[in-house]
Amino acid sequence: MKHIILFSGGVQSAFTVHILLQKLSKQDIILLYTDTKTEHCDNYRFRNDLSKFFDIPITTVQDGRDVWQLIDDLHDIPTARFRLCTDRLKIRPRKRFCKQFSKDDFTLYFGFDKTEWRRMQRMFARCQQERIKVDFPLKDITITKEEIKKIITEKWGIPLPQMYKLFKHANCLPCFLWGKKDWYLCFKFFPEIYDKVAKLEQTYGTSAMRETYLSDLKTIFQSKEFKTPETSALESFPCECVY
Ligand code: SF4
Repeated sequence: MKHIILFSGGVQSAFTVHILLQKLSKQDIILLYTDTKTEHCDNYRFRNDLSKFFDIPITTVQDGRDVWQLIDDLHDIPTARFRLCTDRLKIRPRKRFCKQFSKDDFTLYFGFDKTEWRRMQRMFARCQQERIKVDFPLKDITITKEEIKKIITEKWGIPLPQMYKLFKHANCLPCFLWGKKDWYLCFKFFPEIYDKVAKLEQTYGTSAMRETYLSDLKTIFQSKEFKTPETSALESFPCECVY
């Protein structure tokens, strides 16, 4: 029986590995990483540090394209409603990988905690449709994300991904689930990426955010009246496959 952890490189998927190692042999654990090739380079450093710490190699699957190439091929940009990036770059490669196992021979694990019961329900329903087993080990323990971060940095000695300094999640850069504050941080710290997405919005006529285009938002960000947000934490949504 294989135990496949969706190893996004978020702190909760890292802690899920830690929990499973209390009861399973590491030979039966697969750290499955779906590479969108669109992440901050420090996410890769963090995952590799964790892999060394657990002494389990990372199994990487990918579509082969990054988000930019996907947009180019689809002639459209992903949005929160139509998560083409999640589907093409994460879900489909994961499904292809899992096909090598018979459905009774593996369990998928996600790092959702007990506060994320809606996400658990959605993922449970999706896995039921696929007739595969799924589990969420963090739901059975009481620990906050901040406590997990402390354990990883202070006890395991692994610095968190730099993305956490700005964003709530170590998602892709850019992420098409971002809210206004996240886009502000992108505008401020990664202006080339911001402008690239704004240009693509004009090309394809789709806005990355609901209700507004990034070019209009940029005007607001540049205005004197705009109040700089301190954090994006409350507005960013995790990708379904993150953790
Ligand atoms: S993290 Fe964001 S950009 Fe990356 S696949 Fe998920 S929704 Fe898309």
